[in-house]
Amino acid sequence: MKNHRNIPFFVPHAGCPNCCVFCSQTKITGQSAEKDINTELFELKELLENDCGGFEKSLIAFFGGSFTAIEKKRMEALLSLANEYIDKGVAEGIRISTRPDCIDEEILAILKKYRVTHIELGVQSTNDSVLRASKRGHSASDSFESARLITEGGFEFCGQMMIGLPQSTPEDEIKTARDIIAMGATEARIYPTVVFEGTELFEMASIGEYTPLTNDAAIERTAKCCRLLEEAGVKILRIGLHASENLKKAPLGANHQALGELVKSRIYSDIIAERAGNCKNKILCIGIRASDISMLRGHGCAAINRIIGETDCAGVEIYPADLPRYEPDIKTRSV
Ligand code: SF4
Repeated sequence: MKNHRNIPFFVPHAGCPNCCVFCSQTKITGQSAEKDINTELFELKELLENDCGGFEKSLIAFFGGSFTAIEKKRMEALLSLANEYIDKGVAEGIRISTRPDCIDEEILAILKKYRVTHIELGVQSTNDSVLRASKRGHSASDSFESARLITEGGFEFCGQMMIGLPQSTPEDEIKTARDIIAMGATEARIYPTVVFEGTELFEMASIGEYTPLTNDAAIERTAKCCRLLEEAGVKILRIGLHASENLKKAPLGANHQALGELVKSRIYSDIIAERAGNCKNKILCIGIRASDISMLRGHGCAAINRIIGETDCAGVEIYPADLPRYEPDIKTRSV
């Protein structure tokens, strides 16, 4: 049996009262913006009927828009159908994703009634200037207040944050990661900004009002936040958008198809270089768990080259070891 997973159902842009400068829900989910409720219920039923199971724990996950901002009747119809499949043993609970200004006690009472267990909030940044420049339509204090209601209500809280939003600095992003920890998150998702054609952000980039992230900058900035969150015990559910044809077509920003892997490999190389120190004229022997070896060797050995550059070692040997992720065994030997 594999462990945990989400059974994802996309509700694209449904109910969202906003239009963030970077948002292109159709391009992100690959689905059109509007759907009739009967079609939506039919598709949800199909998804859950055909679920093949095999996991210790499954959650039915409503992603893609601002779930709690959709019409109440529609939200309850989707939740009610999902509850039928919790009763049938297909899933243990429900995960939803929404905006910080679309949570209040009344909404949380509805979510509790329908056995929602996990709530993801699009915090994105805790700098109000960045939120304004991104036209998020909510403030940092909305995020703090919603997170308080969510955690006090006994839900698992997942904080979503973005890297490289308009006017955002690496320091703002570190602060956002720290704030998400302080809000009581047990999970997080980190999304370096991708610029899709047709978005306001694309226009801003075209006229020089916004400088898109390079993939290298996205990796460096994301790795710092990711490490901070993980060291605080926050589980990282996702780094970057899923690889897709749409992402491949994104002209600007953090559009690398394997960004998450590159960030993890960057964290590993940072940790190894810090712990090894200067290894001039020595061979660095690194034990890491077998499933992580390709992370260090992949992508043209970028991580290994970085370790060599940072430690000045004469070479690197990697061997499999029974160790947790990011806890390498590091030794040196003479050349
Ligand atoms: S809140 Fe989410 S769905 Fe709404 S416009 Fe912003 S990114 Fe898009």
